[in-house]
Amino acid sequence: MEARIDKIKQQLQAQGYKLTPQREATVFVLLANEDDHLSAEDVFLLVKEKAPEIGLATVYRTLELLHELHVVEKLNFGDGVARYDLRADNSKHHHHHLICTECGSVDEIKEDWLLPLEERLEKEYGFAVDDHRLDFQGICHRCKP
Ligand SMILES: [Zn+2]
Ligand SMILES: [Zn+2]
Ligand SMILES: [Zn+2]
Repeated sequence: MEARIDKIKQQLQAQGYKLTPQREATVFVLLANEDDHLSAEDVFLLVKEKAPEIGLATVYRTLELLHELHVVEKLNFGDGVARYDLRADNSKHHHHHLICTECGSVDEIKEDWLLPLEERLEKEYGFAVDDHRLDFQGICHRCKP
């Protein structure tokens, strides 16, 4: 956890931003709930437990900043709510999602399954992939009859 916070701190510093205590509290919540896909409001409520003085606007601005710096990804799973998703440390590209249309759960595939496609795109279209999104909608194993 410490190492990841340090890394994010460096990412911010490289762009001329400081990891203020409010920003750190927000990053901490994102790291502690890494497998979830929290909305700004969810993050705010969790940050507030540790730092009651913090406002929703501050949390929101921090999330937007982290998004600009590619620390988090901003997602919309079709319910109209923007959700923030921490990018994995070790992979260059965004992970994939399995979105259950029954229970609304969102599971993650951490491996990059698109590498073979990326190679084809490079070869056949001369296109260098920077990033991608791949979300699947369906019925999860918990909801399958
Ligand atoms: Zn995710
Ligand atoms: Zn990829
Ligand atoms: Zn389900």
